[in-house]
Amino acid sequence: MALDDDIESVLFSEEQISERVSELASQIDVDFNNTNTSPSSPVIVGVATGAFLFLADLVRKIKIPVVVDFIRAESYGSGTESNGAPRISFDLKIDIQGKHVILVEDIVDTGNTLACLIAHLKSKGASSISVCTLLDKPARRRVNFELVGKGKYYCGFECPDYFVVGYGLDFAELYRNLPYVGVLKPELYK
Ligand code: 5GP
Ligand code: MG
Ligand code: MG
Repeated sequence: MALDDDIESVLFSEEQISERVSELASQIDVDFNNTNTSPSSPVIVGVATGAFLFLADLVRKIKIPVVVDFIRAESYGSGTESNGAPRISFDLKIDIQGKHVILVEDIVDTGNTLACLIAHLKSKGASSISVCTLLDKPARRRVNFELVGKGKYYCGFECPDYFVVGYGLDFAELYRNLPYVGVLKPELYK
């Protein structure tokens, strides 16, 4: 029994992801070069658990000094639909007052989670908030979020409106360890 057997199709392969992550890291290097911003290193905030692989690969390709921390926001049960109002269930360790924050997400779907996280980080006094998401499903957006200060938006891939798993993304906490992003066979969750 292999995890692969539950996947209907591969949307973004390991190679495609690796190439795109390199491009995003280079862009972040350029945009957050100390001469352009402030002397303090940007704080990369990974949204647990989904962003863990993306964050790990991204930070290893970033060449400027960065600080890494994690935050957790929960809105999903074990299903495939967001239940609306997310809450912060695990907060930052690092003080982000006056810092440039780059929020690293696995996927932006309705936008609820991101709107909640941005409001939270803004209230902690971040001087800018950028978002770097592996995937974006614009077809499902319900909430518009606003970046803070000179924050930028980085997106790995636009994702079609399927429920996807792998490379950090789960269904009922499984499939996160697949090295690619794929579409789960619908009969497994319908
Ligand atoms: P939002 O609050 O934008 O609706 O949803 C954000 C969170 O829902 C993501 O961080 C992710 O954890 C989860 N999510 C949204 N779409 C998908 C999907 O297609 N697959 C998986 N595995 N999780 C998703
Ligand atoms: Mg997430
Ligand atoms: Mg999930």
